[in-house]
Amino acid sequence: MTIAMPSGLSDTQLVTQLLRCARDERHSTAQLVAHLAEFDTRRLHLAAGYSSLFAYCRSVLGLSEYATYNRIEAARAAKRFPVILARLADATLSLTSVRLLAPHLTDENHAELLAAASRRSKQELEELLARLHPRPDTPSSVRKVPDRPSVAPAPIAAPSHAPSSLESTEVSPAGPPVEPLVAPPEPASLPRGPLVTPLAPARYEIRFTASAATRDKLKVAQDLLRHSVPSGDPAEIIDRALTALIDELSRTKLAIVRKPLRTPRRTARGSRHIPSEVKRAVWARDGGRCAFVAADGHRCSERGFLEYHHVKPFAVGGEATVGNIQLRCRAHNGYESEVFYGAIPEDGGAGRVNEGRPEYAVSRGFRLVPERVGTGGGARASGE
Ligand SMILES: [Zn+2]
Repeated sequence: MTIAMPSGLSDTQLVTQLLRCARDERHSTAQLVAHLAEFDTRRLHLAAGYSSLFAYCRSVLGLSEYATYNRIEAARAAKRFPVILARLADATLSLTSVRLLAPHLTDENHAELLAAASRRSKQELEELLARLHPRPDTPSSVRKVPDRPSVAPAPIAAPSHAPSSLESTEVSPAGPPVEPLVAPPEPASLPRGPLVTPLAPARYEIRFTASAATRDKLKVAQDLLRHSVPSGDPAEIIDRALTALIDELSRTKLAIVRKPLRTPRRTARGSRHIPSEVKRAVWARDGGRCAFVAADGHRCSERGFLEYHHVKPFAVGGEATVGNIQLRCRAHNGYESEVFYGAIPEDGGAGRVNEGRPEYAVSRGFRLVPERVGTGGGARASGE
Protein backbone atom coordinates (compact mmCIF):
# COMPACT_ATOMS: atom_id res chain seq x y z
CA MET A 1 0.00 0.00 0.00
CA THR A 2 1.40 3.33 -1.06
CA ILE A 3 0.59 6.41 0.95
CA ALA A 4 1.53 9.75 -0.52
CA MET A 5 2.69 12.69 1.56
CA PRO A 6 -0.20 15.19 1.74
CA SER A 7 2.05 18.03 0.65
CA GLY A 8 -0.55 19.46 -1.74
CA LEU A 9 -3.03 20.32 1.03
CA SER A 10 -3.59 23.79 2.41
CA ASP A 11 -2.95 24.30 6.13
CA THR A 12 -6.70 24.19 6.82
CA GLN A 13 -7.20 20.99 4.82
CA LEU A 14 -4.19 19.40 6.50
CA VAL A 15 -5.55 20.16 9.99
CA THR A 16 -9.02 18.85 9.05
CA GLN A 17 -7.64 15.61 7.65
CA LEU A 18 -5.27 15.13 10.57
CA LEU A 19 -8.20 15.44 13.00
CA ARG A 20 -10.14 12.90 10.93
CA CYS A 21 -7.17 10.48 10.95
CA ALA A 22 -6.90 10.79 14.75
CA ARG A 23 -10.63 10.09 15.16
CA ASP A 24 -10.42 7.07 12.85
CA GLU A 25 -7.40 5.77 14.76
CA ARG A 26 -9.28 6.02 18.08
CA HIS A 27 -12.22 4.10 16.61
CA SER A 28 -9.90 1.47 15.17
CA THR A 29 -8.13 1.11 18.51
CA ALA A 30 -11.42 0.67 20.38
CA GLN A 31 -12.51 -1.93 17.82
CA LEU A 32 -9.19 -3.75 18.11
CA VAL A 33 -9.48 -3.81 21.90
CA ALA A 34 -13.05 -5.17 21.67
CA HIS A 35 -12.03 -7.94 19.26
CA LEU A 36 -8.96 -8.72 21.34
CA ALA A 37 -11.17 -9.12 24.43
CA GLU A 38 -13.39 -11.67 22.67
CA PHE A 39 -10.36 -13.41 21.12
CA ASP A 40 -8.83 -13.65 24.61
CA THR A 41 -12.03 -15.13 26.06
CA ARG A 42 -12.07 -17.82 23.35
CA ARG A 43 -8.29 -18.34 23.73
CA LEU A 44 -7.95 -18.64 19.97
CA HIS A 45 -4.20 -17.98 20.14
CA LEU A 46 -3.74 -21.55 21.42
CA ALA A 47 -5.32 -23.11 18.35
CA ALA A 48 -3.24 -20.75 16.22
CA GLY A 49 -0.07 -22.20 17.78
CA TYR A 50 0.87 -19.45 20.21
CA SER A 51 1.36 -20.09 23.91
CA SER A 52 0.18 -16.65 24.94
CA LEU A 53 -2.00 -13.84 23.67
CA PHE A 54 1.04 -11.60 24.01
CA ALA A 55 3.07 -13.77 21.61
CA TYR A 56 0.16 -13.83 19.15
CA CYS A 57 -0.17 -10.05 19.19
CA ARG A 58 3.55 -9.58 18.66
CA SER A 59 3.94 -12.16 15.89
CA VAL A 60 0.65 -12.09 14.02
CA LEU A 61 -0.74 -8.62 14.68
CA GLY A 62 2.68 -7.00 14.44
CA LEU A 63 2.23 -4.88 17.56
CA SER A 64 5.18 -3.60 19.57
CA GLU A 65 5.71 -4.91 23.08
CA TYR A 66 4.32 -1.80 24.68
CA ALA A 67 1.33 -1.52 22.32
CA THR A 68 0.52 -5.16 23.04
CA TYR A 69 0.76 -4.71 26.77
CA ASN A 70 -1.55 -1.68 26.80
CA ARG A 71 -4.10 -3.29 24.48
CA ILE A 72 -4.29 -6.59 26.36
CA GLU A 73 -4.71 -4.77 29.68
CA ALA A 74 -7.42 -2.58 28.14
CA ALA A 75 -9.15 -5.61 26.57
CA ARG A 76 -9.30 -7.40 29.92
CA ALA A 77 -10.60 -4.29 31.65
CA ALA A 78 -13.20 -3.82 28.87
CA LYS A 79 -14.44 -7.38 29.38
CA ARG A 80 -15.37 -6.41 32.93
CA PHE A 81 -16.57 -2.91 32.07
CA PRO A 82 -17.55 -2.61 28.37
CA VAL A 83 -18.19 1.14 28.75
CA ILE A 84 -14.41 1.50 28.50
CA LEU A 85 -14.67 0.86 24.74
CA ALA A 86 -16.81 3.95 24.23
CA ARG A 87 -14.45 6.01 26.37
CA LEU A 88 -11.49 4.88 24.22
CA ALA A 89 -13.38 5.74 21.04
CA ASP A 90 -14.33 9.25 22.15
CA ALA A 91 -10.81 9.92 23.54
CA THR A 92 -11.95 10.61 27.09
CA LEU A 93 -9.67 7.75 28.17
CA SER A 94 -6.37 6.66 26.66
CA LEU A 95 -5.06 3.10 26.65
CA THR A 96 -2.50 4.12 29.27
CA SER A 97 -5.26 5.55 31.49
CA VAL A 98 -7.24 2.32 31.23
CA ARG A 99 -4.15 0.29 32.12
CA LEU A 100 -3.49 2.46 35.19
CA LEU A 101 -7.14 2.35 36.27
CA ALA A 102 -7.76 -1.35 35.66
CA PRO A 103 -6.47 -2.71 39.00
CA HIS A 104 -8.61 -0.18 40.89
CA LEU A 105 -11.94 -0.67 39.10
CA THR A 106 -14.76 -2.48 40.90
CA ASP A 107 -18.45 -2.99 40.19
CA GLU A 108 -19.18 -0.32 42.78
CA ASN A 109 -16.68 2.38 41.81
CA HIS A 110 -16.08 1.97 38.06
CA ALA A 111 -18.62 4.55 36.84
CA GLU A 112 -17.36 7.19 39.24
CA LEU A 113 -13.68 6.40 38.72
CA LEU A 114 -13.91 6.33 34.92
CA ALA A 115 -15.67 9.70 34.98
CA ALA A 116 -13.08 11.16 37.35
CA ALA A 117 -10.27 9.92 35.07
CA SER A 118 -11.83 11.45 31.96
CA ARG A 119 -9.34 13.44 29.85
CA ARG A 120 -6.69 13.36 32.57
CA SER A 121 -3.03 13.14 31.67
CA LYS A 122 -1.04 10.17 32.94
CA GLN A 123 0.47 12.33 35.68
CA GLU A 124 -2.91 13.71 36.74
CA LEU A 125 -4.32 10.20 36.85
CA GLU A 126 -1.41 8.99 38.98
CA GLU A 127 -2.13 11.89 41.37
CA LEU A 128 -5.81 10.90 41.50
CA LEU A 129 -4.99 7.26 42.22
CA ALA A 130 -2.46 8.31 44.88
CA ARG A 131 -5.23 10.24 46.64
CA LEU A 132 -7.62 7.30 46.46
CA HIS A 133 -5.05 4.64 47.30
CA PRO A 134 -2.19 6.32 49.22
CA ARG A 135 1.06 4.39 49.50
CA PRO A 136 3.68 4.76 52.24
CA ASP A 137 6.77 6.95 51.74
CA THR A 138 9.71 5.35 49.95
CA PRO A 139 12.77 5.38 52.24
CA SER A 140 15.52 7.71 50.95
CA SER A 141 18.43 5.77 49.48
CA VAL A 142 21.66 6.34 47.59
CA ARG A 143 23.03 3.26 45.87
CA LYS A 144 25.59 2.47 43.22
CA VAL A 145 24.28 1.44 39.82
CA PRO A 146 26.25 -0.60 37.25
CA ASP A 147 28.72 1.43 35.20
CA ARG A 148 26.89 0.41 32.04
CA PRO A 149 23.13 0.13 32.36
CA SER A 150 21.80 -3.23 31.30
CA VAL A 151 19.71 -3.15 28.14
CA ALA A 152 18.34 -6.68 28.43
CA PRO A 153 14.55 -6.61 27.98
CA ALA A 154 12.35 -7.63 30.86
CA PRO A 155 10.86 -11.12 30.69
CA ILE A 156 7.51 -10.98 29.00
CA ALA A 157 4.39 -13.04 29.40
CA ALA A 158 5.98 -16.28 30.51
CA PRO A 159 3.07 -18.40 31.78
CA SER A 160 5.20 -19.90 34.56
CA HIS A 161 6.40 -16.49 35.72
CA ALA A 162 5.78 -15.81 39.39
CA PRO A 163 3.10 -13.13 39.85
CA SER A 164 4.31 -9.63 40.57
CA SER A 165 2.46 -6.43 41.35
CA LEU A 166 2.48 -5.56 37.65
CA GLU A 167 0.77 -8.71 36.53
CA SER A 168 -2.88 -9.25 35.93
CA THR A 169 -4.08 -12.30 37.84
CA GLU A 170 -7.77 -11.87 37.16
CA VAL A 171 -9.91 -14.75 35.98
CA SER A 172 -11.83 -14.31 32.76
CA PRO A 173 -15.60 -14.81 32.80
CA ALA A 174 -15.15 -17.94 30.67
CA GLY A 175 -13.29 -19.71 33.47
CA PRO A 176 -9.72 -20.46 32.39
CA PRO A 177 -7.05 -18.42 34.16
CA VAL A 178 -5.81 -15.38 32.32
CA GLU A 179 -2.15 -15.53 31.39
CA PRO A 180 0.01 -13.26 33.49
CA LEU A 181 1.19 -10.13 31.74
CA VAL A 182 4.42 -8.37 32.60
CA ALA A 183 5.03 -4.75 31.66
CA PRO A 184 7.66 -4.47 28.92
CA PRO A 185 10.22 -1.69 29.16
CA GLU A 186 9.02 1.73 27.99
CA PRO A 187 9.75 2.22 24.29
CA ALA A 188 13.14 3.84 23.83
CA SER A 189 11.70 6.30 21.35
CA LEU A 190 9.36 7.78 23.96
CA PRO A 191 10.41 10.20 26.69
CA ARG A 192 11.59 8.36 29.78
CA GLY A 193 8.90 7.44 32.27
CA PRO A 194 8.16 9.75 35.15
CA LEU A 195 10.94 10.24 37.65
CA VAL A 196 8.35 11.72 40.00
CA THR A 197 5.69 9.29 41.17
CA PRO A 198 2.80 10.38 43.37
CA LEU A 199 2.49 8.11 46.41
CA ALA A 200 -0.15 9.85 48.51
CA PRO A 201 -1.59 13.37 48.83
CA ALA A 202 1.41 15.77 48.87
CA ARG A 203 3.91 12.87 48.91
CA TYR A 204 6.08 11.93 45.92
CA GLU A 205 8.79 9.43 45.16
CA ILE A 206 11.60 11.08 43.15
CA ARG A 207 14.28 8.94 41.53
CA PHE A 208 17.30 9.95 39.48
CA THR A 209 20.81 8.81 38.64
CA ALA A 210 23.60 11.19 39.58
CA SER A 211 27.36 11.43 39.09
CA ALA A 212 29.94 10.60 41.76
CA ALA A 213 30.55 14.35 42.07
CA THR A 214 26.89 14.93 42.93
CA ARG A 215 27.01 12.12 45.46
CA ASP A 216 30.09 13.79 47.01
CA LYS A 217 28.33 17.17 47.15
CA LEU A 218 25.38 15.53 48.90
CA LYS A 219 27.77 14.05 51.44
CA VAL A 220 29.42 17.45 52.08
CA ALA A 221 26.00 19.11 52.45
CA GLN A 222 24.89 16.38 54.85
CA ASP A 223 28.00 16.97 56.97
CA LEU A 224 27.56 20.76 56.95
CA LEU A 225 23.87 20.46 57.89
CA ARG A 226 24.36 17.77 60.50
CA HIS A 227 23.31 20.13 63.30
CA SER A 228 19.95 21.01 61.70
CA VAL A 229 19.29 17.80 59.74
CA PRO A 230 20.77 15.12 62.04
CA SER A 231 19.36 12.27 59.96
CA GLY A 232 21.10 13.57 56.81
CA ASP A 233 17.88 12.79 54.92
CA PRO A 234 18.61 13.45 51.22
CA ALA A 235 15.01 14.61 50.69
CA GLU A 236 15.49 17.40 53.27
CA ILE A 237 18.95 18.34 51.94
CA ILE A 238 17.74 18.48 48.34
CA ASP A 239 14.72 20.56 49.36
CA ARG A 240 17.06 23.13 50.92
CA ALA A 241 19.38 23.01 47.92
CA LEU A 242 16.48 23.63 45.53
CA THR A 243 15.20 26.52 47.66
CA ALA A 244 18.65 28.13 47.49
CA LEU A 245 18.89 27.46 43.75
CA ILE A 246 15.47 28.98 43.03
CA ASP A 247 16.41 32.06 45.07
CA GLU A 248 19.61 32.39 43.08
CA LEU A 249 17.90 31.91 39.71
CA SER A 250 15.15 34.34 40.64
CA ARG A 251 17.78 37.00 41.23
CA THR A 252 19.96 36.34 38.20
CA LYS A 253 17.75 34.85 35.51
CA LEU A 254 14.30 36.24 36.20
CA ALA A 255 15.52 39.54 37.63
CA ILE A 256 13.25 39.10 40.64
CA VAL A 257 14.37 40.87 43.80
CA ARG A 258 12.52 41.27 47.06
CA LYS A 259 12.85 45.06 46.90
CA PRO A 260 14.15 46.94 43.86
CA LEU A 261 17.42 48.59 44.85
CA ARG A 262 17.02 51.83 42.98
CA THR A 263 14.71 53.81 40.78
CA PRO A 264 14.32 52.03 37.46
CA ARG A 265 16.17 53.60 34.57
CA ARG A 266 14.45 54.15 31.30
CA THR A 267 15.89 52.15 28.48
CA ALA A 268 17.36 54.27 25.73
CA ARG A 269 15.18 54.24 22.62
CA GLY A 270 16.42 51.72 20.14
CA SER A 271 18.17 49.60 22.74
CA ARG A 272 17.74 45.83 22.61
CA HIS A 273 18.34 45.61 26.36
CA ILE A 274 15.28 44.54 28.36
CA PRO A 275 15.31 46.25 31.78
CA SER A 276 14.95 44.13 34.90
CA GLU A 277 11.73 45.85 35.94
CA VAL A 278 10.19 45.05 32.55
CA LYS A 279 11.24 41.40 32.92
CA ARG A 280 9.73 41.22 36.40
CA ALA A 281 6.43 42.76 35.28
CA VAL A 282 6.24 40.56 32.16
CA TRP A 283 7.03 37.42 34.14
CA ALA A 284 4.35 38.22 36.72
CA ARG A 285 1.74 39.19 34.09
CA ASP A 286 2.33 36.08 31.94
CA GLY A 287 2.48 33.81 34.98
CA GLY A 288 5.89 32.34 34.15
CA ARG A 289 4.41 30.60 31.12
CA CYS A 290 4.63 30.94 27.34
CA ALA A 291 2.05 33.55 26.29
CA PHE A 292 1.68 32.41 22.68
CA VAL A 293 -2.03 32.17 21.81
CA ALA A 294 -3.11 30.32 18.67
CA ALA A 295 -5.81 31.59 16.35
CA ASP A 296 -8.37 29.30 18.01
CA GLY A 297 -7.57 30.76 21.44
CA HIS A 298 -5.39 27.91 22.70
CA ARG A 299 -2.52 29.20 24.82
CA CYS A 300 0.78 27.31 24.98
CA SER A 301 1.32 25.69 28.40
CA GLU A 302 5.14 25.50 28.29
CA ARG A 303 6.96 26.75 31.41
CA GLY A 304 10.47 25.68 30.46
CA PHE A 305 13.03 27.33 28.13
CA LEU A 306 11.21 30.67 28.38
CA GLU A 307 12.54 33.72 26.58
CA TYR A 308 11.52 37.39 26.43
CA HIS A 309 9.91 38.06 23.09
CA HIS A 310 9.31 41.37 21.30
CA VAL A 311 5.68 41.28 20.08
CA LYS A 312 6.51 43.98 17.58
CA PRO A 313 9.96 42.88 16.48
CA PHE A 314 12.97 44.88 17.55
CA ALA A 315 14.05 45.17 13.91
CA VAL A 316 10.93 47.13 13.04
CA GLY A 317 11.08 49.44 16.02
CA GLY A 318 9.60 47.26 18.77
CA GLU A 319 10.57 48.66 22.15
CA ALA A 320 11.52 46.77 25.31
CA THR A 321 8.41 47.84 27.19
CA VAL A 322 6.00 45.80 29.31
CA GLY A 323 3.39 46.30 26.61
CA ASN A 324 5.63 44.95 23.86
CA ILE A 325 7.44 42.13 25.66
CA GLN A 326 5.86 38.73 26.32
CA LEU A 327 7.14 35.37 27.46
CA ARG A 328 7.65 32.72 24.80
CA CYS A 329 8.96 29.19 24.98
CA ARG A 330 11.97 28.62 22.75
CA ALA A 331 9.87 26.85 20.12
CA HIS A 332 7.35 29.68 19.82
CA ASN A 333 9.99 32.40 19.91
CA GLY A 334 11.70 30.62 17.04
CA TYR A 335 8.41 30.11 15.23
CA GLU A 336 7.49 33.79 15.41
CA SER A 337 10.96 34.81 14.29
CA GLU A 338 10.67 32.43 11.37
CA VAL A 339 7.29 33.83 10.41
CA PHE A 340 8.36 37.45 10.69
CA TYR A 341 11.93 37.27 9.52
CA GLY A 342 11.61 34.48 7.00
CA ALA A 343 11.68 36.97 4.18
CA ILE A 344 12.65 40.25 5.83
CA PRO A 345 15.58 42.06 4.28
CA GLU A 346 18.61 42.56 6.52
CA ASP A 347 18.46 46.31 5.99
CA GLY A 348 15.42 46.63 8.22
CA GLY A 349 12.32 48.49 7.16
CA ALA A 350 8.92 46.93 7.39
CA GLY A 351 8.84 43.22 8.13
CA ARG A 352 7.50 40.90 5.48
CA VAL A 353 5.66 37.77 6.48
CA ASN A 354 6.21 34.42 4.85
CA GLU A 355 4.01 33.51 1.96
CA GLY A 356 0.84 31.72 2.96
CA ARG A 357 0.75 33.14 6.48
CA PRO A 358 -0.62 36.68 6.10
CA GLU A 359 -3.40 35.86 8.60
CA TYR A 360 -0.71 35.38 11.20
CA ALA A 361 0.67 38.88 10.73
CA VAL A 362 -2.83 40.37 10.91
CA SER A 363 -3.57 38.48 14.12
CA ARG A 364 -0.42 40.00 15.58
CA GLY A 365 -1.50 43.55 14.80
CA PHE A 366 0.51 43.96 11.58
CA ARG A 367 -1.05 45.68 8.60
CA LEU A 368 -0.53 43.89 5.32
CA VAL A 369 0.41 45.92 2.27
CA PRO A 370 0.88 44.49 -1.23
CA GLU A 371 4.41 43.49 -2.13
CA ARG A 372 6.12 45.50 -4.84
CA VAL A 373 6.03 43.93 -8.27
CA GLY A 374 9.22 42.12 -9.10
CA THR A 375 10.36 41.35 -5.56
CA GLY A 376 8.67 37.99 -5.23
CA GLY A 377 5.35 36.90 -3.83
CA GLY A 378 3.97 37.35 -0.37
CA ALA A 379 2.84 40.42 1.48
CA ARG A 380 4.56 43.05 3.52
CA ALA A 381 3.60 43.52 7.11
CA SER A 382 4.09 46.81 8.79
CA GLY A 383 3.92 47.24 12.51
CA GLU A 384 1.14 49.26 14.03
ZN1 LIG B 1 5.08 28.15 23.60
